[in-house]
Amino acid sequence: MVNVRGWVTISSMTGRTHDLAAATALVATAIVLQPTPVNLATALAALLANQIGGIAPDIDQPTAPFWRNLPIGGFFGRIFGKLLGGHRFLSHSLVGVVVFGLAARALINFLHPLMPHIDIGIVWVAFMIGVCSHLVMDSFTREGVPWLLPVPVKFGFPPVRSLRVTTGKKMEVILIFPLIALGLIWLCSTHYVLLQQLILRP
Ligand SMILES: [Zn+2]
Repeated sequence: MVNVRGWVTISSMTGRTHDLAAATALVATAIVLQPTPVNLATALAALLANQIGGIAPDIDQPTAPFWRNLPIGGFFGRIFGKLLGGHRFLSHSLVGVVVFGLAARALINFLHPLMPHIDIGIVWVAFMIGVCSHLVMDSFTREGVPWLLPVPVKFGFPPVRSLRVTTGKKMEVILIFPLIALGLIWLCSTHYVLLQQLILRP
């Protein structure tokens, strides 16, 4: 979206808020589910996949962080945006979650021979946690998220639109981002030993 001053704005949470939310969701899920301990390579690959998942739904906008970090990313972003029906459409729905899940599974299976020591099931789950956290975070923004496509309704929280967050505005910068950061710090400090035990020592 281009505003009146000609500046490009993104009508979703900022990339760093999505990154932080994805990591927090990953840590919270690990604490609740306490999976079998994994090796360090799997933990690092899972964190990377989780961060990619956290920004993946925004492949439908050429200005997204996902594309900004790639050479000629804006070009691909425009193509994907058209394919996915424009911003906040297919990639921001449960149908999109399933499509991301299938595509990620195929890609991870394809790459597995290059990294045989990595538990690809954990990496896939970490990616999906990132994708889902993105949709949850975008639900707090004014535009909402079309969770139930093809039902053409955008859902958000709180249901009253005017109470939701405008991207990059004060509410996100001084409230939402610091709150998630504090939540992540609190989770890590109160479950430090448990989190440490989830990673196998060589
Ligand atoms: Zn988004």
